[in-house]
Amino acid sequence: MRDLTLRKICLVLGMTLLLNGDSFCNGEKLLLEKVIKSNAEWKKILTPKQYHVAREKGTERAFSGEYHDHKGQGIYQCAACGNELFSSKTKFDSGTGWPSFWASVSEDKVREEKDNSFFMKRTEVLCNRCDAHLGHLFEDGPAPTHLRYCINSVILKFVEKKEQK
Ligand SMILES: [Zn+2]
Repeated sequence: MRDLTLRKICLVLGMTLLLNGDSFCNGEKLLLEKVIKSNAEWKKILTPKQYHVAREKGTERAFSGEYHDHKGQGIYQCAACGNELFSSKTKFDSGTGWPSFWASVSEDKVREEKDNSFFMKRTEVLCNRCDAHLGHLFEDGPAPTHLRYCINSVILKFVEKKEQK
């Protein structure tokens, strides 16, 4: 008798998970449709430098990129998939030699993951659409967030948008 109750509970729990999973897939998250490609496919699309950063988690040399000192009104997209990542409105001069932002366009555009490589505790920033490695997130940025998204220029594509809100 007890077993049966347990089994019923499991069934209900399982169903709930299934249903939630389903609504998750069919809900607004669908707007951010994932871009999934093999490494061979990415190699064809990206330049060697972009591939190194995006798929091998490389870092471009400081002050070597196109956008660290770039000023202009618009949106910085993911160079790999076109996902809109950062606005010029949150860009600031960090003096590090990499384009720096104190916020992303919205929370679902980028993903953050713990990165303990090279014996450092860092937070990795990835494009949430194609999983390209973008850079790292630090907590020494300016107000209002005090965050610093330190991003590689080579994996960004600037699209000018005048008078954006
Ligand atoms: Zn992307």
